[in-house]
Amino acid sequence: MTKPVPADVLSRLKSVLGEGGWSQDPDRLAPKLLEWRDRWTGTTPLLALPKTTAEVAAVVGICAEAGVAITPQGGNTGLVGGQIPQGEILLSTERLRAIRDLDAFDDVIVAEAGVTLAAVHEAVATVGRRFPLGLASEGTATVGGVVSTNAGGTQVLRYGTTRDLVLGLEAVLPNGEVWNGLKRLRKDNTGYDLKQLLIGGEGTLGVVTAASLKLFPVLVSRATAIAAVDSPEVAIQMLARAKDTAGGAVEAFELMGRRGIEFVLKNITGQRDPLPQAHPWYVLVEIASGEPGAAEAAMERLLSKGLEDGLVRDAVVAQTDAQAKALWSIRENQSPGQKPEGATWKHDISVPVSQVARFIAEASAAMEAFVPGCRITAFGHVGDGNIHYDVIRPHGGDNAEHSAKRDQGSRMVHDIVARLGGSISAEHGLGAMKTEEARRYKSPVEVAALEAIRQSLDPKRIMNPRVFF
Ligand SMILES: Cc1cc2nc3c(=O)[nH]c(=O)nc-3n(C[C@H](O)[C@H](O)[C@H](O)COP(=O)(O)OP(=O)(O)OC[C@H]3O[C@@H](n4cnc5c(N)ncnc54)[C@H](O)[C@@H]3O)c2cc1C
Repeated sequence: MTKPVPADVLSRLKSVLGEGGWSQDPDRLAPKLLEWRDRWTGTTPLLALPKTTAEVAAVVGICAEAGVAITPQGGNTGLVGGQIPQGEILLSTERLRAIRDLDAFDDVIVAEAGVTLAAVHEAVATVGRRFPLGLASEGTATVGGVVSTNAGGTQVLRYGTTRDLVLGLEAVLPNGEVWNGLKRLRKDNTGYDLKQLLIGGEGTLGVVTAASLKLFPVLVSRATAIAAVDSPEVAIQMLARAKDTAGGAVEAFELMGRRGIEFVLKNITGQRDPLPQAHPWYVLVEIASGEPGAAEAAMERLLSKGLEDGLVRDAVVAQTDAQAKALWSIRENQSPGQKPEGATWKHDISVPVSQVARFIAEASAAMEAFVPGCRITAFGHVGDGNIHYDVIRPHGGDNAEHSAKRDQGSRMVHDIVARLGGSISAEHGLGAMKTEEARRYKSPVEVAALEAIRQSLDPKRIMNPRVFF
């Protein structure tokens, strides 16, 4: 727990924020102090709700001077607990909601930190553009949050992570100074790139107040399908074929196991089994192209050859937008679908694509030996080598007993990941959950360099002190 905040600091903060700019009302605070999966609850002496970059700077400046810690929060959809304060000032970006510019010629949108990802999508569609970052949490996740976590999502295969989609940032640094780096350049090779330190910085190097984001043309031809395959090995073979067949036009290639689909059918209303018969594994494939009919033709070639060669057991191709949404809904509900099944050890790992099948086989053998009867779901962005590998307690088992074994079980999973050359956090970040675990897998040389960067920008360690090295 962070040290108590002096009363005079609280009153200075209230005074710069003005009426409506802060709250200590428990009902107002409650949803911001509970993490989406109920895994973390927090406390804060004050919810700060700045409306402008200048107000953010004033808050950070007062805290820096007094050595008072701050936790920034956007939509509170982060999955590693970094946005939940433990006694720090909670700085919410919910009132930083302006879209400052939208330019289809420069292919850029400049949006403030509290704008949701869904609002960005809606705004850019009005000028015939798209921002290709898609998350199941996009209705709530914010620009500041996706930047600070370097969010990934379903289109990384084609467009990269948030890191690849940001042209410039505006941020308040830990000393309270405003850095205006809201450039919109595709090329700017002028030394260290400060924005890349803030991207994925999880609020440890400052508060992101606005971002200029890269836009892309809307693609007129889009085909979405779910195909059944026998194993993750075959899924990877189909991924290679999809790339060969559609070139750079593969937008998404997602893996799901049968157990995860059954949890969705059982626990989420309005879902339909995608295929008439059950199969052990499924891939959701999306191809998109600027040329009318090209995506549909590529999907047809991919699936018919896959069926002919015995790689694909069955497949369904969406014929309408509503059908495509229904297929995506099965994928997006993998996590919510398993929530009612009880205590779960979640892992967001990545390995080289060539090692995905080996990872699933080795981790599953280890987990089944460690917790006989545990229920494993492995799903995710297999095209990026990113698997959400979740170990749910045995049916009818005891939640507390399962949770008590989490650290030991996760260590076994992470050791396999490390041995295969992977990462223990592919897209969710480290937050409060994985910082210590990451220290174990990074070299002392790297940790020392990262500590030195933080120390130089935030010597009093006021920004999100529980996160990172
Ligand atoms: C259903 C669901 C699906 C998801 N799917 C994906 C997925 O596919 N890919 C993926 O990558 N993530 C996914 N996530 C995780 C989450 O949505 C992302 O991490 C998202 O980027 C968090 O945005 P947020 O605004 O909610 O940030 P928050 O949860 O509020 O904060 C996350 C972190 O960023 C920091 N932060 C927030 N705003 C700022 C700011 N303005 N300046 C500095 N630091 C800040 C916080 O301190 C915290 O450390 C999913 C989450 C859910 C609930």
